[in-house]
Amino acid sequence: MDFHEEIIAIVKKKKLSEKELAKIKRELSLKYKLDKIPTNIEILLHATPKDLEQLKPKLLTKPVRTISGVAPVAIMTKPDRCPHGKCTFCVGGIGSPWGDVPQSYTGHEPATIRGMRNNYDAYLQVFSRLEQYILLGQNCEKVEIIVMGGTFTATPLEYQNEFILGIFKALNDFSTMFYNKSKKSTSNGKFNSTLNIFDYLKFKKFFELPGDITNKEREERIKKKILALKFKKITSLEKEQKKNENSHIRCVALCIETKPDWGLLEQGNIMLDQGCTRVELGIESVYDDVLKYVHRGHNSNDSKKSIQILRDLGFKINFHYMPGLPLTDRKRDLEGMKQLFSDENYRPDMIKIYPCMVGPGTALYLQWKKGLFKPINSKEAMSLILEWKKYVPEYCRIQRIQRDVPTKFWEAGVEMTNLRQELFAKNKVVCRCIRCREPKTEKINWKKVSLKVQEFKSSGGREYFISAEDSDNDLLIGFCRLRFPGQFLRREITPSSALIRELHVYGTATAIGDAGKVQHKGWGRKLMQKAEEIVKINGRNKMIVISGVGVRGYYVKLGYKREGPYMVKKLI
Ligand code: SF4
Ligand SMILES: [Zn+2]
Repeated sequence: MDFHEEIIAIVKKKKLSEKELAKIKRELSLKYKLDKIPTNIEILLHATPKDLEQLKPKLLTKPVRTISGVAPVAIMTKPDRCPHGKCTFCVGGIGSPWGDVPQSYTGHEPATIRGMRNNYDAYLQVFSRLEQYILLGQNCEKVEIIVMGGTFTATPLEYQNEFILGIFKALNDFSTMFYNKSKKSTSNGKFNSTLNIFDYLKFKKFFELPGDITNKEREERIKKKILALKFKKITSLEKEQKKNENSHIRCVALCIETKPDWGLLEQGNIMLDQGCTRVELGIESVYDDVLKYVHRGHNSNDSKKSIQILRDLGFKINFHYMPGLPLTDRKRDLEGMKQLFSDENYRPDMIKIYPCMVGPGTALYLQWKKGLFKPINSKEAMSLILEWKKYVPEYCRIQRIQRDVPTKFWEAGVEMTNLRQELFAKNKVVCRCIRCREPKTEKINWKKVSLKVQEFKSSGGREYFISAEDSDNDLLIGFCRLRFPGQFLRREITPSSALIRELHVYGTATAIGDAGKVQHKGWGRKLMQKAEEIVKINGRNKMIVISGVGVRGYYVKLGYKREGPYMVKKLI
């Protein structure tokens, strides 16, 4: 007997609670020395057709929801050169020591591996990631798309649009293909809602499961089937976006990585059409001598200009900043990182700190070899970040403090792969950033939740960070970023307009349409009401929301209508 035979025999015989099933799975995984505990759906894939009907209700349980409720889907663009050349610290790219891989990646990141396997085709990559989520038993109804690799906005527009179209079409086609709609009426028979039932058999057949993942022929066969779907019907980005508004798997956020000189008005407008809601902006340093020395291809003025434009178009911006670059030291790094908040031209919504690492095949590697450059080490990076955290304001979220690339792929630099865990384990960290105050699994005292408004200048406009906070436990329940833009860059954005750049309510993840534990308390609505109130008090009458394509329906319920890429409401 093997693992699957034994567990299937037990499940068939006994009525098990979720807990009991998990315990038996654990025990049997140990007995059969498995690397990981198989998910219920993986077990089901080994059932005979005869056993299937009996096992399905027991094993096809609701997929697990993550805390954020959003499933990230990172899609890699094909290897290409950045138009300005190459930053001295940048790994990967065409002709790198790891072969032709996307610029700035090593070829060993999970997203890059998936990209390579799927010929960097967006449609194939989305299908493959969604298949993975289903096999992991995780909920992927709300998807956040992250477009990675090089400078996407500098690639030909035709390539960009085809890539984004592939993403939306894949989300829609996967939904239509593997979820069957069925009407459900409520007890009083008045209200009909639609249920999406997962078509397990179709899924199993299509992906030839269980299958041997090392079998190239099988892989090619599946790819061929997916591509046949991709090219089945001529469609357009606008059509697929519209379809995605009501699709089972929806794109709730779309993020594009770029650099400041390729994140200006022209690119901003294109990204809006593509359904982008967040820009990952590589500003890397506030110092012009450093930017020039590392051959960044932009200066600090470009950064400020890009931030201003993107913010005035409504985007959320996630800065990438790189301490430890040549011509910096601890003092300069700390000052620069503090300037990100003291200077109103920066003030990031989110930030990723990536200490500079020396990678093979880079110009920096040669400088390091010649003894001309000494990288920052773990201890120095940790102490710098620890000190800087004290200055991070409540409106900013520290997303990461290290790149997600194992240290073995670097030649020198921060030696630890788990800098963040170490930082928290070894120090008393003082940090007021969003991430440190998220409720996660903590209990909220609902009686003590109230709204708080923080107002500040940014990039020539005014920002209002409206938060719902549990003052008893110092927890952030949700927040809204409201902006009075400093310039009016599109016809939708008039002098009497205000922008909602982000609305976020934390909770245990909810399936779309379900009443979530936190959402259910209506804090999203309350935050929006507060924002509308502030707008009216300030004599403005038009609210503009940058919304993920799959969240447009939520705003329709709040009285918003589509105008261009935005959701808009006249306030009276
Ligand atoms: S812009 Fe980004 S991807 Fe391009 S060379 Fe510089 S670091 Fe690498
Ligand atoms: Zn923090």
